Amino acid sequence: GRSALQTLFDTKICDCCLMCNINTRFATSKGYWKDPYIQYFARSVGERKAPEINRGYYARVKGVNHLLDAFIRNSECNCQVINLGAGLDTTFWRLKDENLLPKKFFEVDFPTVVARKIHNIKTKPPLSKHLIETHSTDSLILDTQSLDSDRYCIIGADLRDISALDEKLKKFHLNPDLPTVLLSECVLVYMTPSQSSNLLRWAAEIFHTAMFINYEQVNMSDRFGQVMIENLLRRQCSLAGAELCQSLDTQKERFLKTGWEHADALDMMTVYSMLPQDDVARMECLEFLDEKELLQQLLQHYNICWASKDKLNLGNSAVCK
Ligand code: SAM
Repeated sequence: GRSALQTLFDTKICDCCLMCNINTRFATSKGYWKDPYIQYFARSVGERKAPEINRGYYARVKGVNHLLDAFIRNSECNCQVINLGAGLDTTFWRLKDENLLPKKFFEVDFPTVVARKIHNIKTKPPLSKHLIETHSTDSLILDTQSLDSDRYCIIGADLRDISALDEKLKKFHLNPDLPTVLLSECVLVYMTPSQSSNLLRWAAEIFHTAMFINYEQVNMSDRFGQVMIENLLRRQCSLAGAELCQSLDTQKERFLKTGWEHADALDMMTVYSMLPQDDVARMECLEFLDEKELLQQLLQHYNICWASKDKLNLGNSAVCK
């Protein structure tokens, strides 16, 4: 009912920026999945999150990682990753530990977020160790707005300013000829439809073999979706791109209209049901969930959409099959 729904949003939905990491830290502290690096970015484990939120994060992490890792494996690590609006994401460190590091891993976010992340990397040896280990030349570039090493690069930029973004990425040796995965998780929704279209079109134009993985809200026109929007607005998160989160079709079309050859989208309830069920069973035993319906509703309001271009025939449009 309304009150359970309201409680869920009042206490746990945190779509603004760095709260994602606090939620991740809480879920990993409970054992939902392993992330030994999140502790160096999120200050505290934070207050208790409802089991449905933790399960939602679990499905998101597993689903996105599945697509990302499949692309990297398909290209035998001879590829690039660009995480757009990366926040304090720890994927670079995970890939290094799993021997899945691409040729280069780029992250882009606003300069203030980047400055904070660079500070964390510089002051936390478990983070800087991986950069140093993967760096062979003496050309490390480091200032408050960017850090560039052989395999990891983080850039402060506004994703709505395509020409500046393009210039900065090229300055740090982005290679348009390498197969490339672009990742955006809860990022495009903060831009107007024309701003995010420009970003998708830019990516489709410069890479001939690429996959774009986007995770964000969907099915926002029903009552649950409207409550989600109201709650985000209350937190001063304005969802300028919410109209593209109407349906799985609008999510796919935004790619097909901007030069991508192939697009697929699944809501997170479907993703949840496709995940390896032995680990799902383990995860479901961690915390008792009495509001099963709330979990379903929550998962139906997020989706993963992935689009591809595949000149090199790596089979990237089929990675989820
Ligand atoms: N992708 C990360 C994750 O999933 O943990 C962070 C998600 S957070 C909800 C949104 C991120 O996008 C924030 O770090 C924010 O600073 C960044 N962002 C939003 N609009 C942006 C823009 N126009 N340019 C650069 N970064 C942006």
